[in-house]
Amino acid sequence: MMNEKMYALGSKRSTIREIFEYAKMRAVEIGKENVFDFSIGNPSVPAPACVHATIKKLLSEIPSVELHGYTSAQGGKDVRDTIAANFTRRFGVALSGDDLYMTCGAAASLTITFKALANAGDEFIVFAPFFPEYRVFIENAGAKLVAVASDERTLLPDFEALERAITPKTKGVLINSPNNPSGVVYGEQTLQTLAEILKAKSEEYGETIYLISDEPYRELVYDAKTIVPCPMKFYADTIVCYSYSKSLSLPGERVGYIAVSPKAREAKKLYAAVCGAGRSLGFVCAPALFQRVAASCDGQTADLSVYRKNRDLLYNALTAYGFTCIHPDGAFYLFMKSAEADAATFCERAKKYELLLVNGEDFGAKGFVRIAYCVETERIERALPLFKKLAEEYSLIK
Ligand code: PLP
Repeated sequence: MMNEKMYALGSKRSTIREIFEYAKMRAVEIGKENVFDFSIGNPSVPAPACVHATIKKLLSEIPSVELHGYTSAQGGKDVRDTIAANFTRRFGVALSGDDLYMTCGAAASLTITFKALANAGDEFIVFAPFFPEYRVFIENAGAKLVAVASDERTLLPDFEALERAITPKTKGVLINSPNNPSGVVYGEQTLQTLAEILKAKSEEYGETIYLISDEPYRELVYDAKTIVPCPMKFYADTIVCYSYSKSLSLPGERVGYIAVSPKAREAKKLYAAVCGAGRSLGFVCAPALFQRVAASCDGQTADLSVYRKNRDLLYNALTAYGFTCIHPDGAFYLFMKSAEADAATFCERAKKYELLLVNGEDFGAKGFVRIAYCVETERIERALPLFKKLAEEYSLIK
């Protein structure tokens, strides 16, 4: 008999994947140009030039056996040293290559981190709305996900609710800024308050409560005034889970890292537990070629102006049509209030216009839908009249 939980996971697609597959089917039926698939967070702009230039250079300069061979389990030393030096320079937090563990993207960074931290019965707090796979990753580590509401208006953490939710079982608090699905960015004050609460609660219970920061959208911000502060600056017991999937438009290549704060309690032991978790999960090493690409292109980004343009087009038009939207400062998602109480029915109505949206309930937030705007700008322009018709159905337009 197989494992029932794994069977359930493998036999049921996520809602996002379900819509993605539906979009492909509709494209065959009515033509790709007539389907407005806003479901999936697949970057729509090419990788920056340095990616292909580095690949070409590596292929021509490094012998095949060396280039494609195993690296150390935690990633090549040169790669880790380079990325750590950049991290120190960019964020003002001293990090060495020995604090970094290269991974197969943020999904692996998170899975490994939860495995490294969790003992049976432990709990991890996440703020709703949150990326649905968190539940899978946390439960896979034998722990429990505890969802805490965010402030309804700003979607920033509700700190009173957080304080009530922390118990002696709390092993960590997971944050994700810029956020999927809301695009909200946590500022310094938010991180400061969060750090104070975690310090006080860790002292009260005599156990470290870790801060896990999931940062695949760290570089995806659109206004010069928006700064994504580094959580390690505010709280010592922090683990950063990073990925190059979105910043370098490389989601299929599977590369990212875990950074363990050297100031964390028993930081060396914590890092060893990360290595142990990676080993137990069968991550031999992150893809060798793309480790090198990541080191060479770390800090660069794909052309973000396309996402900025898409965000502005969509946000300005939808709010003008009478929809209520959370203003996204980063990532490439717009979180919009459903025009009726049941967001599932709203999504069905949108589908009539071939507008494919994701129900916010999948992210733990009722009454919202997520619109992934990492698509061609031209597609958004053609979708706007359809959104307008949808708004008219609900008599939203004043
Ligand atoms: N965390 C969040 C918030 C995400 O949105 C995603 C992917 O969309 C991931 C983690 C996983 O990213 P990766 O492709 O790097 O595994």
